[in-house]
Amino acid sequence: MGAGGRPFDHPPDDQMILKQKVVESRRASSNHAAYVSHGIFFAVFLSVVYYLIVRWHEKTLNSTPLLVVTMFEMAAIITFVASCIYLLVYFGNSLVHHTHFLDEEEDQPEETTNTVHCEYAHLSLKQVGKKDKVTQEDEAVIQAVVSGETPSYSLESKLGDCKRAAVIRRMAVERIAGKSLDGLPVDGFDYESILGQCCEMPVGYVQIPVGIAGPMLLDGKEFWVPMATTEGCLVASTNRGCKAIYASGGATSILLKDGMTRAPVVRFATAKRAAELKFFLEEPLNFETLATVFNKSSRFGRLQTIRCAIAGKNLYIRFTCSTGDAMGMNMVSKGVQNVLEYLRADFSDMDVIGISGNYCSDKKPAAVNWIEGRGKSVVCEAIIKEQVVKKVLKTNVASLVELNMLKNLTGSAMAGALGGFNAHASNIVSAVYLATGQDPAQNIESSHCITMMEAVNGGNDLHVSVTMPSIEVGTVGGGTQLTSQSACLNLLGVKGANKESAGSNARQLAMVVAAAVLAGELSLMSAIAAGQLVNSHMKYNRSNKDNSVES
Ligand code: ADP
Repeated sequence: MGAGGRPFDHPPDDQMILKQKVVESRRASSNHAAYVSHGIFFAVFLSVVYYLIVRWHEKTLNSTPLLVVTMFEMAAIITFVASCIYLLVYFGNSLVHHTHFLDEEEDQPEETTNTVHCEYAHLSLKQVGKKDKVTQEDEAVIQAVVSGETPSYSLESKLGDCKRAAVIRRMAVERIAGKSLDGLPVDGFDYESILGQCCEMPVGYVQIPVGIAGPMLLDGKEFWVPMATTEGCLVASTNRGCKAIYASGGATSILLKDGMTRAPVVRFATAKRAAELKFFLEEPLNFETLATVFNKSSRFGRLQTIRCAIAGKNLYIRFTCSTGDAMGMNMVSKGVQNVLEYLRADFSDMDVIGISGNYCSDKKPAAVNWIEGRGKSVVCEAIIKEQVVKKVLKTNVASLVELNMLKNLTGSAMAGALGGFNAHASNIVSAVYLATGQDPAQNIESSHCITMMEAVNGGNDLHVSVTMPSIEVGTVGGGTQLTSQSACLNLLGVKGANKESAGSNARQLAMVVAAAVLAGELSLMSAIAAGQLVNSHMKYNRSNKDNSVES
């Protein structure tokens, strides 16, 4: 990192600004000191040269031997040598440094004084290798970022051009880190579309292949399910599950609940006061007033329930609300904020510790989501015909039922699983989430799933179901509006807000997620039951390419 600070650190707070000012003033004062000392040595050098020339001239005129020197002359000679060394070391070094740069980076514009202070700049230019030509103007901005003079996060607002900001930031980070980002694409992405909502300080984008599983016949409609993944077998396997479901007449899904949650934590001086608020919030007569206050936040957010939990004098208030086609975290948080402000009138002794007290519970494994649900709670089922189990899934009903009981139910119970009574729900959830612009971190609770298998129709056919209590998805907001993700939503017919019935698109997406999980469960369980798992992974997941050659 350059002497000017850490340009890729967090946005400024008072401390950062202060730190930057201190660094700048230090740099200014060190420059000042350097000029003064150069001046003194230069003056001394000229004076002693003048004195020695005069003495040499006088000695020649008087025929005095040159080797006979007085104390003053000796002192002058020593001062002359010292000032010569000083001046040579300083100016000689600058010259060598300058020539060295030009030799190695002939195409690079001449370094400005800024980079003299950047201890990494020289190293990184060598390591990163030659880059596309940059304009002098861009080079100056890169150097300002490298030296810490321009904070990396301010590039978009400073340049007013998001793509240019990403390119410049990328070059600056390469120089600072002394490592190349070659291979990470930067072109072909709309950086304006992520500004202020999806990703800060971009330097490019990661490519994830998108495969399609389907058609999935769900509730009488066909869906082609986009899955973004780098795991071989996953799309192929889900596709096989879709085929088995299709050949058996399709799957059916039922939405059990639709409500996003947020639970602030508030503290009182006594447990008694905390309990008083709990009783107030859970009193059915108060619900309408609280809902009116909550619902002011959005056209779509509608309060459904309030559930409280107490820990001593701390109260955790879990608000649940419908959120239309949005996943809903912002919406529910705004509603909660309104209610907390309203409560201050009667509970002025309430201390709001945090808008989220983890009883929500977002992006953490928690029994509250598994039991109460969060987002969309969905159950999806299908009856797979005996012949399909044999021909498509290459196994039999009895083996599947037995494996499900011993693996997904008993095995997970033995492991102390929390919502993990399935084979690989999170594989499908994550892939569909990435493809459709959902928050991938929410795959934690969204993948809660219990897979059930039972022999039906006299033991011939297989009833399979997945029950997923907390699928958190939206079709507006967040990453859903980005071009690629929105194309995938479009393929599913759930892009954006549903104009006729707000929330139908998001609910439909949740049901597709559950159906895709059903397909994935069927196929993987069949592969395990048939003993094919390792073989198919060796075929699809391990290419013959020797990657070690490239790494
Ligand atoms: P989240 O609450 O999931 O974080 P955002 O707040 O980013 O999502 O997005 C929701 C925004 O989209 C709100 O401003 C909301 O008014 C708007 N919106 C437009 N149409 C809909 C809809 N059908 N359902 C939900 N929100 C919608």
